[in-house]
Amino acid sequence: MALINENFLKLSESYLFTEIARKVNAYKEEHPKADVISLGIGDVTQPLAPAVIEALHKATDEMAIATTFRGYGPERGYDFLREAIVENDFRSRGIDIEADEVFVSDGAKSDTGNFQELLSAKCVVAVTDPVYPVYIDANTMAGREIVKLPCTAENGFVPELPTGHVDVIYLCYPNNPTGTTLTKEQLKVWVDYAIRENALIFYDAAYEAYIQSEEVPHSIYDIADAKQCAVEFHSYSKTAGFTGIRCGYTVVPKTLRASLNKLWNRRQSTKFNGTSYLAQRAAEAIYTPKGKTQIKTTIAYYMENARMMRKALTGMGFKVYGGIDAPYLWVQTPGSMTSWEFFDWMLHSAHVVCTPGVGFGVQGEGYVRLTAFGTHENTEKALRRIDSKL
Ligand code: PLP
Repeated sequence: MALINENFLKLSESYLFTEIARKVNAYKEEHPKADVISLGIGDVTQPLAPAVIEALHKATDEMAIATTFRGYGPERGYDFLREAIVENDFRSRGIDIEADEVFVSDGAKSDTGNFQELLSAKCVVAVTDPVYPVYIDANTMAGREIVKLPCTAENGFVPELPTGHVDVIYLCYPNNPTGTTLTKEQLKVWVDYAIRENALIFYDAAYEAYIQSEEVPHSIYDIADAKQCAVEFHSYSKTAGFTGIRCGYTVVPKTLRASLNKLWNRRQSTKFNGTSYLAQRAAEAIYTPKGKTQIKTTIAYYMENARMMRKALTGMGFKVYGGIDAPYLWVQTPGSMTSWEFFDWMLHSAHVVCTPGVGFGVQGEGYVRLTAFGTHENTEKALRRIDSKL
């Protein structure tokens, strides 16, 4: 008999965004005329940069000719992209990462979800609370014990070190969902802990491109010795609007214990057949002078939304966190409203979709997450509507 992996039965019934979509669709069916604006799911709205489009067209044309056609690519990704990553994301910041420590992927969701496969089911895993749900779900599927590290307004959303030993710590900065960051000193505390405890840090830098403040580190490898204990995940989804194109990368230093670099290569060569040539050429274009300027303009566009939202919501009397070095705002619900109560109020009264904070963990109760990925027009309209319904 084919027995199922019973760990799957421990997962919460539906993925957070599936539940939100169900509620929003039900509301739209009952109120077909309502103009619902989503400031909920973290998808982008602005088109790809012209440099990226140009690269996609060029790569497509190459695919039409036998002499330039490409089939299966190298497992770790094409050299042209891995070299561009190393040069622009690391060496230019004084960080020494080599091209064979970079693995190109179809995005950070797959890699942050899959990397744990290299570890024993006995490893104890720590995640922040609230947290991007993928880290918990992937480790629940693998049957691991999970320790939660509360991130609250009281501790400034900075997780405290676990009281006992843990083997793996997932950190995501700039943070989804709170939109907050760690300073170098705060991040160093975790690197020191990981080295002391023989633990690994899985560092999700998906929102690194949104950092505005000088003092906020763009990579965990900004901290000396992090190459001994940290794997870092990157995504082009929010950096350059690649949510539909699909491309990202993971850095697995060769200096990590247990030859994780070799093991990840082994795992990928069995289970993953590479990111498309088109997506990789598109990603390479982000690192050209034109591409850099164009993606910065789009990021500035979203960060202007974040600024507008912070200002307007604070003016309405809300307590707002994040939104300075991240496209997310973490907003305390008014009075004693729960996250889902406020979600319902926003949907029914203002026709605005937010994400209930409790969906990211128990410490998210009493908060909602708003994203800055809308258009200026919709963001302004949503803010006006919230204000008028208060
Ligand atoms: N990591 C975090 C923290 C995210 O918020 C997201 C997307 O929302 C991802 C990873 C996934 O990124 P990708 O689109 O590259 O799979």
